[in-house]
Amino acid sequence: MPVEKHSTYFNMLDVLKEKGCPYCRLSDKSAHSYFDAFLFENVTDREVSKKLRSSGGFCREHSAKFLEFNDTLGAAIVYESLIYDLLNEKKESLSLKSGACPACAVSKEAEERHLKTFEPYFAEPEFAEAYLVSEGFCISHLKLLLPKIKKESVLKKVIEKERQTLEKLHSELLEFLRKNDYRFSKEEWGAEKDSWRRAIGKFVGERKVRQKSL
Ligand SMILES: [Zn+2]
Ligand SMILES: [Zn+2]
Repeated sequence: MPVEKHSTYFNMLDVLKEKGCPYCRLSDKSAHSYFDAFLFENVTDREVSKKLRSSGGFCREHSAKFLEFNDTLGAAIVYESLIYDLLNEKKESLSLKSGACPACAVSKEAEERHLKTFEPYFAEPEFAEAYLVSEGFCISHLKLLLPKIKKESVLKKVIEKERQTLEKLHSELLEFLRKNDYRFSKEEWGAEKDSWRRAIGKFVGERKVRQKSL
């Protein structure tokens, strides 16, 4: 039976065509839409969303995302509110909140939905083909995805694809190391030039590697 093709399917198909781990791209996109909506709806006055106030702010990764928007007024309103909360509940102490980052919650929910639908979507030739020519998943997301795949035949194809991707990256690293040897250092750089960066990204997801500002 063909799968129902709704936005989850098309979102996934889109990110499969982009560079890097598709789940990292999705996670980045969901955080982006979160801040888009957050800055549009919530930051019109001092009443920043209750969820954010009870969380004590955004996590490190999503604070970096927030910075990317460069919304100076939005940031000032949000953090005035958060610091006001820290100072005001009890005099002579600090009201430190320990709730989860609301952008993480939104992003986790989207990630879970897209991980769960990988196997049914893989039955669609268009989807399987897009995955098989993609750059594959990062190791962090692969650890989350593999236990969710029930069909032996699908698991076999995913492992085969990911092994091929890792083998290619491994040989690029070997080539990078070879060219660092003074005897070969006059040779021109090829695709292996940034293999070390892609290798770091392959483990934790490129979104985190790209993050330089925090
Ligand atoms: Zn990833
Ligand atoms: Zn977060």
